[in-house]
Amino acid sequence: MRNTLNYFYEKLAGIYARNEIKSICFMVMQNICNCSRTDLLVADSINLTDEQKSRFDALMERLLNREPIQYIIGSCHFFDIELNVNNNVLIPRPETEELVDWILNDNANEVGSLFDICTGSGCIAISIKKTKPNFRVSALDLSEGAIETAQENARKNNCDIEFITDDILSPKHLAEAKHDIIVSNPPYVKEEEKADMEANVLEYEPAMALFVPDENPLLFYDAIGRYSLTHLNKGGKLYFEINEALGNETVALLEKIGFQNVTLKKDIFGKDRMVRAQL
Ligand code: GLN
Repeated sequence: MRNTLNYFYEKLAGIYARNEIKSICFMVMQNICNCSRTDLLVADSINLTDEQKSRFDALMERLLNREPIQYIIGSCHFFDIELNVNNNVLIPRPETEELVDWILNDNANEVGSLFDICTGSGCIAISIKKTKPNFRVSALDLSEGAIETAQENARKNNCDIEFITDDILSPKHLAEAKHDIIVSNPPYVKEEEKADMEANVLEYEPAMALFVPDENPLLFYDAIGRYSLTHLNKGGKLYFEINEALGNETVALLEKIGFQNVTLKKDIFGKDRMVRAQL
């Protein structure tokens, strides 16, 4: 594996950091050889068949074009589950795992219903349903491609979740149902932040899942906050993943809408990343 790893370091230097290259290398080799990480670690040498070599070369070419490895192999891991991903959905981020972890710890003894708005791959809804099968879970997205992927992921993980295709900014198909928890990781990256982003995100991930106008970056928080005001049960909780630069503004907005106990939480990098609000 050492030689293979060195080959990856050499090829992908300048595109990814060393630790990222290492995890990409393992994902590629596990996929090509159809084996576990441990199999690779204990192997003295890795001999590829001609067919595997040509798949390897094709895959390396796509990596050199900065296509994310998760899209190339079509799957990723999130919170102990495997999810299919394609360019209709964002690749789930570790900070979203922290949000799921917060919700699960916070509601360890609760039973009720949860609604995930802007579900994308379904990562939040599915990881919560998987851990708390007694929860009634529903999830919404505007993108039909995202809803299809999320449905596939729910089936793959044996989760019974209701999916709705609708626009939370002007909903047309939403029932009057009330929930105990509403959660959302909506688009929150300002257009002006594009300048600091990498090609692997900008050229491959769905812009509609990422970007919001510079002059109104909290539009989803405003719409989801107002929706939640009338669709959360008394004492219900609203959870958001947020733009690290807009923590105080998001808190102020939710307080203005009428929420109480609005709490900001940092991610493991010390950045303002999550908010919880109570009705
Ligand atoms: N955290 C994601 C990123 O940095 C953005 C997710 C979102 O817009 N909801 O690309």
